[in-house]
Amino acid sequence: MPAPDARSSDARTAGRPPDDVPGSSSGSRTMHGVPPRRSSTTPTYLGIDLGATKIEVVVTGADLTPLSRARAATPARGGPPAVVTAIEAAVAEALATAPHGRLVAAGIGVPGHVDRATGAVARSPNIRGWTASYPLQAELETRLGVPVAVDNDVRTALLGEHRLGAAAPYHDVLAVWFGTGVGGALLLDGMIRRGRLDACGEIGHACATPGGRRCACGRRGCLEAYAGRSSMERRARERVDKGDKTTLFTLMRKAARTRLTSGVIARALDQGDLLANELINDAVRAAGPVIASAVNILDVDAVVIGGGLGTRLGQPFSRRIHRAMQPHLLHDGRASVTVLSAGLGDLSGALGGVVLASERAPG
Ligand SMILES: [Zn+2]
Repeated sequence: MPAPDARSSDARTAGRPPDDVPGSSSGSRTMHGVPPRRSSTTPTYLGIDLGATKIEVVVTGADLTPLSRARAATPARGGPPAVVTAIEAAVAEALATAPHGRLVAAGIGVPGHVDRATGAVARSPNIRGWTASYPLQAELETRLGVPVAVDNDVRTALLGEHRLGAAAPYHDVLAVWFGTGVGGALLLDGMIRRGRLDACGEIGHACATPGGRRCACGRRGCLEAYAGRSSMERRARERVDKGDKTTLFTLMRKAARTRLTSGVIARALDQGDLLANELINDAVRAAGPVIASAVNILDVDAVVIGGGLGTRLGQPFSRRIHRAMQPHLLHDGRASVTVLSAGLGDLSGALGGVVLASERAPG
């Protein structure tokens, strides 16, 4: 196991530590539009993680240490223009509380297919209303006034974990991100791999059970159909319709949520809810053989488990997945691959955005 990275704990405690998943934080946000920076020669970077339910923003110094952060709910209506406006407001909030510096570049991870030549996002199935290509890089560069690097969300988070977090000691790393769906990314020899069709690492659609549950992608038996938060919610609703008892939806309403968020699922688990426990058991059972098979093929040094649900459930979840992998690993037991929880917590993606920005920024 690697030594804890000092910057990881800085990241978790930087600025205002938002709890749980976002509500509307717009009540405290009076500023719209990015304020002009006072003249200073200290360079700062901006990292943004766009998720299906929340937007995380972090501002760092040149050494990539977090200076401030902000969080906002991802708009449920309005598509990409509403998302960009919400990003701009969250950026303004983060910059307003950061020590003054010269913002030099920004990076953003997006849950969708990114055209890296233009920074356009072709589609983003987990964000409501994002059904056609949108020039995200150009739009953000206009609004923020600095160069913006755009990449896929899990690749960006893996970059963050590799440069600043739990995966720092390793050269070959597979990331498995449990969130609304199940995403993945692969880093070999320290470089993010993309593949012929830009689909490298899509472990969420590896088959866990041939002919099994229907996945959002239209196929059957994908890992995501068992281990994605969205599919868990669909199954929970089906079970309640059949008369099963659960505290999941009571907790959801108490938290003023309209979806079964990672925080709601974690609280139900803590309270011993049988259905929540069954959903997580199914996710672990599906993840074990799929991740083990990927490790058998790729022989990576480490697997990093993250995403909203993966981060919320933390190391007990990673350890359970590691145990479920064992029967399927070619090299099991003491020789088996290292399985880690994301070290940057909720900030993996946003700090990955900072890394993107700093590594692509001129000068
Ligand atoms: Zn699928």
